[in-house]
Amino acid sequence: MKKTKWIIAILTIIMVLTGCNKNTSSGKDLERYSATFLSLFDTVTSMVGYAESEEEFNIVTKQIHDEMLTYHRLYDIYNSYDGIVNMKDINENAAKAPVKVDQKIIDLLLFSKDIYKETNHRVNIALGSVLLLWHEAREDGLYDPSSAYLPDMDELLEASKHTDLDKVIGDDENNTVYFADPELRLDVGAIAKGYATQKAIEKVDISLLISVGGNVASTKAKPDGSEWIVGLQDTEGVDGSYKQKVKLDKGAVVTSGDYQRYYVVDDVAYHHIIDPDTLMPGRYWRAVSVIVPDSGLADGLSTALFLMNMEDGQKLLDKFNGVALWTALDGTEYKSKGFDKVAKD
Ligand code: ADP
Ligand code: MG
Repeated sequence: MKKTKWIIAILTIIMVLTGCNKNTSSGKDLERYSATFLSLFDTVTSMVGYAESEEEFNIVTKQIHDEMLTYHRLYDIYNSYDGIVNMKDINENAAKAPVKVDQKIIDLLLFSKDIYKETNHRVNIALGSVLLLWHEAREDGLYDPSSAYLPDMDELLEASKHTDLDKVIGDDENNTVYFADPELRLDVGAIAKGYATQKAIEKVDISLLISVGGNVASTKAKPDGSEWIVGLQDTEGVDGSYKQKVKLDKGAVVTSGDYQRYYVVDDVAYHHIIDPDTLMPGRYWRAVSVIVPDSGLADGLSTALFLMNMEDGQKLLDKFNGVALWTALDGTEYKSKGFDKVAKD
């Protein structure tokens, strides 16, 4: 389980909302409503949207919540749920024989394989064995900071031999997953939240903005046609201050940052996004925010850009028509091509 501290940290990447409460341009009176859920992806989910009544808004947000809860349980690698075959079950059993799974798992697997290819293997959900060593060290270190330690490099190197995503065999006719490497483990943390968010909001037809632990996505512009304004948290500033605000009609803004989840060993902070080359936390950037129309892609790309230099990151953005804001380790900010078009001055 992730720590409260982290939850508080991402709570600060909250949405900056402007505009009036009432909107009549569609011919109907629409009010602005909001809702918060604590049950999804171990983080805080908040939604803001315009509906004709509170009842209508509650129906929509409950649908989103329920669908995301299904995804949350299916993609969970740490907990089991009655009657559900999830990622934890796959990790435990898929090397013995193909495991029958929900279509939502096959779909995520296929999406993850695309991201793996597109990011030149920087984002690899088969890094699970490596990530587990970091996860254990981080949990222990947060529980007892005085004896915090780093994962053993020999163990990391051994684990890294079992991270070939091509050894995860998804059969989309029989809906099964099989591991051709018994030591391989999946960890979908880099994309699951964004992917599930995208799926859950796709059918929504009201104007809605959702933040799942700071991963923000919107269904369309506000009813009066104006864009949502989303604040990107200032990594150095006090909670709730923004380094930049961006405009969003239908799209997603996702940030990966070294300040979001970390622990400290000998006064050095070690965060949770691991460079597959060094097997250590990525040292390219403090944070990278990516804006693209699809929230799953935004999540995958923000992790990817966090783990590569700006030139390679810009190439990826060009391919997906995205924009980004990089914050370097010294705090300097760099904008991608086209970023100014979405920046709110
Ligand atoms: P957050 O989960 O804070 O939103 P990210 O989307 O960047 O941040 O995902 C980080 C998570 O992804 C980690 O907690 C870990 O589970 C997983 N992860 C870390 N490094 C990698 C990597 N190189 N490839 C795939 N997944 C990773
Ligand atoms: Mg991500």
